Amino acid sequence: MNDSAPLAILKSRFGYDSFWSPQEEIIANVLAGRDSLALMPTGGGKSLCYQLPALIFDGITLVISPLIALMKDQVDALNSNGIAARFINSTLPASAINGVQEQVRRGQVKILYVAPERLAVPGFRRFLSAVKLSLIAIDEAHCISEWGHDFRPDYRNLRQLRQDFPSVPVIALTATATPQVRDDIIVQLGLQQGQVFVSSFNRPNLSYSVLPKGDYWMRLLSLLRRHMHQSTIIYCFSRKETEDLAADLKAEGLSARPYHAGLDGETRRRTQEEFVRDRVPIIVATIAFGMGINKPDIRLVVHHSLPKSLEAYYQETGRAGRDGLPSECVLFFAYADKAKQDFFINQIEDASERRNAGLKLDKMLEFAQLPTCRRRFLLEYFGERWTEDNCGGCDVCLRSGEEFDATEIAQKILSAVIRTGERFGITHVIRVLRGSRDKRILQFGHRQLSVYGIARDYTRPQLRDIIGQLEARGLLMRSDGEYPTLAVAPSGREFLRERQTLALLRPTDPDVDRDTGAGRTRKTPAATEYDEGLFEELRALRRQLADARDVPPFAILWDVSLRHMAAVVPRSMEEFSGITGVGEVKLEQYGPRFLEVIRSYAEANDRPERTSVVQRSVGGQERERRQPRRGNTYDITREMLSQGLSISQIARQRGMVETTIIGHIERMADRGVALELGHLLPAEERLARIEEAFGVCGSAFFGPVWEFLGVEEFTYDELRLARAYLLQKGRLPD
Ligand code: ADP
Ligand code: ZN
Repeated sequence: MNDSAPLAILKSRFGYDSFWSPQEEIIANVLAGRDSLALMPTGGGKSLCYQLPALIFDGITLVISPLIALMKDQVDALNSNGIAARFINSTLPASAINGVQEQVRRGQVKILYVAPERLAVPGFRRFLSAVKLSLIAIDEAHCISEWGHDFRPDYRNLRQLRQDFPSVPVIALTATATPQVRDDIIVQLGLQQGQVFVSSFNRPNLSYSVLPKGDYWMRLLSLLRRHMHQSTIIYCFSRKETEDLAADLKAEGLSARPYHAGLDGETRRRTQEEFVRDRVPIIVATIAFGMGINKPDIRLVVHHSLPKSLEAYYQETGRAGRDGLPSECVLFFAYADKAKQDFFINQIEDASERRNAGLKLDKMLEFAQLPTCRRRFLLEYFGERWTEDNCGGCDVCLRSGEEFDATEIAQKILSAVIRTGERFGITHVIRVLRGSRDKRILQFGHRQLSVYGIARDYTRPQLRDIIGQLEARGLLMRSDGEYPTLAVAPSGREFLRERQTLALLRPTDPDVDRDTGAGRTRKTPAATEYDEGLFEELRALRRQLADARDVPPFAILWDVSLRHMAAVVPRSMEEFSGITGVGEVKLEQYGPRFLEVIRSYAEANDRPERTSVVQRSVGGQERERRQPRRGNTYDITREMLSQGLSISQIARQRGMVETTIIGHIERMADRGVALELGHLLPAEERLARIEEAFGVCGSAFFGPVWEFLGVEEFTYDELRLARAYLLQKGRLPD
């Protein structure tokens, strides 16, 4: 055995300073030669529980992993830490398999990954019996259970493996949270109760929110803009929905691709690859997408339709934030979506299965309409007790206690609905309330109404939110159909007549208050304030390094490490070695390149000064400051604009891409920051045409404006800049 202490190996090989619970106990149990079952959520750090012991044992550690597509990634990641790992699966030609087996026999390999079907190959069994096996790790152990969501018959080969090597310790790992499956794993593998390690299934870095589907498009766009360039999955119900939505997003200038089982294999493979390599940020998918994806930095998972169960929801949202950094899960909910799921449920032939599916769907519906903490509901569904009052990371908790006196605004909204004849949709009503100069307003003579412009002090998203709450309270009704209209319900009339008072939750505006939720994260240094501009540069370097090696960017370093760098700004190899995830090998390999980028960024920007770690206390819990410090990178852009520099000059000098700079401008314009934009505008006549197009089509979406103008002639960037400028000058319609 290698007698270095586990903690020393943790730093030197993996670059981490301390264990997460219950890693240390599991590792001790494994090293003592006993069996273990580790039940930990995604991102909980399961792999380390066998990878670290593997480095201490003399013989090899055999890892059974069901997903051939992911084996290479895992092996690459280990190799990049200087750990001798290999895999054997059907993608390798026989000669390569022989080569790997030869290396194993010569003792040159510490960790060997194989797919379960390999265990049935006689030659492989002979090979195994001739080598020194120290540990068997069974990843995704729930695949052995028929109760699980992805039962794999090949996993039954594992029982034979146990019998062949009765004295070799086994560690089984899974992120499946249902008790039934856990028990089944224990039985199937013959593991003993005392060695079950369970950690909480809470995913503290994920925030959960449910939004009304009635106006999902606007909210979706604003979510996506907020997560610009970050990996996002949008789950849809049908193949057609994925294609339509992806096309709509493209028309908005967003880079999105559909993904579903009906696409040919080559297209699917390419789409996955583009996503994993950070070339396409948004995937619009059916639930067919995700199994083969191990991307650690998915920051947003949207459910465009209701999932069929909380199990499915937990699993699909679970793909967000595997790296522990704050990530969002948003469900768009309309009660009408229930019908789509019911349709499938009704086709289940077996009566008890059908009933079961119905019950699961009911739980999902309950979750979507919950007046209390969503995290608590989710965890309690999986049999875990949750005692905190306020999780600080779901929409319900984040808004609780934030009521305001909504009497006046409710009166205004209801009056506007009545005055316009109860035959218009939410967009039109809001335009009236905010005094828009939209053509349709003029056409219907709504400018003359007494309610015209009486709610200018609320933003559009805020009004949408309040209208949603009025609906939920039963004061307003929305008709069904493709163009739903608003009407005042009897209790709404009563409210007006009797001059009742009303308290509502403070409305959210995704564009204004960004803090719509993110739970507490594990206290990694990287989850604190960091310089975003620097982070983007580090990302660009990572991508370059990854492309040169033909691996995905996360195989180089994870976002966690880059954020840590952008927060503490290391200036020497010594300081660089303190970055989380940087062990000895990565220090040598990448340290100089990253340090170089950090140095030139600091010179070009006169910054950043080192930031301190700020923790703030919410509900007695430590909570990371979610909002990264945006100030400096934005200020620099503003300053350079005021010097009359062009977008491309700024981008070049700052080593950023142009679209990032334009993004800065849009953000600042949205917030009313004064900017010097005059020198960036198109010729007067062109600008006038753009202004006219916004006047006709509204300014919320680019797609229609672009089409109106003729897509050939205008670029998105031109529209984006013009929009920011017109917004500043108050020349945009609503
Ligand atoms: P899981 O398999 O449970 O989803 P992983 O094993 O992929 O999770 O671990 C998630 C991430 O956390 C990986 O980047 C891993 O290297 C990292 N990690 C694991 N343990 C620690 C630790 N003790 N300190 C810091 N990072 C860790
Ligand atoms: Zn909550």
